[in-house]
Amino acid sequence: GKESNRGHALLFSKEHVAAIEQNQQLEQLLSKADLDAELTVFFQPIVNIQSGRTVSFEALARWNSPVLGNVSPAVFIPVAERIGLISELTCTLLRKALATAITWPEEVGLSFNLSTHDISSSDDVATIVGIILSSGMDPRRLDLEITETAMMYDFAQAKAAIEIFKILGCGMALDDFGTGYSSLSQLHALPLTKIKIDRSFVSGLHKNPASYKIVKSLLALSSDMDLDCVIEGVETSEELEVLKKLGGILVQGYYYSAPVAGSEIGRFLPRPELG
Ligand code: C2E
Ligand code: CA
Ligand code: CA
Ligand code: CA
Repeated sequence: GKESNRGHALLFSKEHVAAIEQNQQLEQLLSKADLDAELTVFFQPIVNIQSGRTVSFEALARWNSPVLGNVSPAVFIPVAERIGLISELTCTLLRKALATAITWPEEVGLSFNLSTHDISSSDDVATIVGIILSSGMDPRRLDLEITETAMMYDFAQAKAAIEIFKILGCGMALDDFGTGYSSLSQLHALPLTKIKIDRSFVSGLHKNPASYKIVKSLLALSSDMDLDCVIEGVETSEELEVLKKLGGILVQGYYYSAPVAGSEIGRFLPRPELG
């Protein structure tokens, strides 16, 4: 009755209960999902704004659940980590991404997101290395993206994983740069090749002096550290113009394209020479 529910009502709001139930449903559906059939990989171009060429694509996971429809990776990746499904999910996605990328011209690269768990277990690192090697793709065409949060979870293990991928020939990108809590000395201790400036700093930077200063100093920092730098989340020509003036080179965002299906990327690729 009403009385006996009162205690619960104090602890859990309706929204809480709904969120918990939704999470349980997500966990159940994902754990039973046919990953090979329901997961796909979309690709978003990364463009050199000085040459206008697409130099690589970032692989972005999509889950088409028969029950829920399209679920965002921002939602299902954390669920997969929680229920111990992330290794399997990463392997499925990496195989699919590499199978598509192997059909691209040699000068076009692939960027792939790894999660915290992927780099904190040496077994998983070995499995990932195996997938890369058996794909036939030159590892030098592959960048692996990891977040600051993933690296700070177990710094020594993350560093060891990065070193292994580097020996293989992969590039290592620090994703969402500036949003985590790593110190510059820790960053310096990692053999990274690239940083990706988070889109929260890019949005509206032409009219926001604080964002402008942050992007400017992150570009200077990447250049001082001899790291490539991808600027994420560029949506407007105003933002692009400012980034050009600041000396930015690599850009990713809706201004060029949202992520698209593998079958649609031909229009971003250089056309083969005629004759
Ligand atoms: P992320 O790695 O930072 O990827 C960039 C996200 O920003 C993507 O969201 C992309 O669609 C979105 N984006 C790109 N350009 C713009 C723009 O101009 N404006 C705005 N508003 N958004 C833009 P998406 O595809 O929803 O992915 C969300 C996150 O899920 C990713 O963030 C990444 O952390 C994670 N994720 C995606 N695919 C994978 C995967 O295969 N493995 C793992 N571990 N994580 C993944
Ligand atoms: Ca399984
Ligand atoms: Ca990323
Ligand atoms: Ca990012």
